[in-house]
Amino acid sequence: MRVYNFSAGPAVLPEEVLQEAQNDLIDYKGHGMSIMEMSHRSKPFMALMEEIEQDLREIMAIPANYKVLFLQGGASLQFAMVPLNLFSNSKKSDFLITGAWSKKAMAQAKVYGSVKVIGSSEDKIFSYIPQWKESDFTPDADFFHITSNNTIYGTRFTDLPNTGKVPLVADMSSNILSEPVDVSRYALIYAGAQKNIGPAGLTIVIIREDLIGKAMDITPIMLNYQTHSEADSAYNTPPCYSLYISGLVFKWVKKMGGLEAMLKYNEEKAAVLYDFLDQSALFSSPVSVKDRSLMNVPFVTGNPDIDAQFIKEAEKQGLVTLKGHRSVGGMRASIYNAMPLDGVKKLVEVMKKFEAQNK
Ligand SMILES: *Cc1c(COP(=O)(O)O)cnc(C)c1O
Repeated sequence: MRVYNFSAGPAVLPEEVLQEAQNDLIDYKGHGMSIMEMSHRSKPFMALMEEIEQDLREIMAIPANYKVLFLQGGASLQFAMVPLNLFSNSKKSDFLITGAWSKKAMAQAKVYGSVKVIGSSEDKIFSYIPQWKESDFTPDADFFHITSNNTIYGTRFTDLPNTGKVPLVADMSSNILSEPVDVSRYALIYAGAQKNIGPAGLTIVIIREDLIGKAMDITPIMLNYQTHSEADSAYNTPPCYSLYISGLVFKWVKKMGGLEAMLKYNEEKAAVLYDFLDQSALFSSPVSVKDRSLMNVPFVTGNPDIDAQFIKEAEKQGLVTLKGHRSVGGMRASIYNAMPLDGVKKLVEVMKKFEAQNK
């Protein structure tokens, strides 16, 4: 029996995708072997990789002057690859600090160049997106970094800093494919697959072509975007199985109607939860209303014992991985693309019942 899995990542995948993967597992499309056992240089695998890229380009409407790279090392390796590849002139960078992930990205950039904090919401446990002043931006920065959705704290950017000629870089690990994005506003987008795409092991980088080929001299060959761009993401063995599952998820997103439809569905799901939280006498959202994430929804009762009791009760009802991150406490429901509306409705039902019993 499948449970409703509210994990922040690795996270729920569409059941149809898992079923299709199961069908393909022993004998992938008549090749007599699973896709895991197949050479990444084989014709069927290379054709599949091309199709996966085309589907992603179509879904996100990625302009032709952007490369799509399929890498490994998670979003965390991008914390290093971004500065190593983009520190090509001033070696200066600007950061909006909206959580633990942006802090980690900034700490890594600091190893290779200078960093400036343009705004931070650390004063209130990252429960809002800080305002920025364009006059604070570094005009000759090599890049400006944001974390578009903050997985731990449940905030998201609904507006982007206007960085002019300075390349805007976004860590979209937890909201890629959740809503349409204008890729041309960004110089580089990166995302670990395990939140809203597929299994862990795959990292997607979407990079404007003119930024490739200017890496710092110390950049290891494996960490140079040029290496992977020239080799069509097969300089070394790509994460074949993660790619394959992600490809099935792309097909699923297309079938669902693409990113406009995903956004509508995600807004509907999030509204069910936020509407309940905003009128509940027991549960509340700690996040500033205008900055609320559609993907990760932290909520608290204010009493850790009651929180623990609720998590236990929810688990009994088949609603799992609801424990919040230790820095926020309480609960967190991650309601990525693949979380069905029924899962969110069931969660609210269980919360209502729990509230009535804990008056
Ligand atoms: C999960 C997450 C990361 C870390 O991802 P890894 O793939 O584990 O390195 C970085 N940034 C954001 C926004 C995340 O949600």
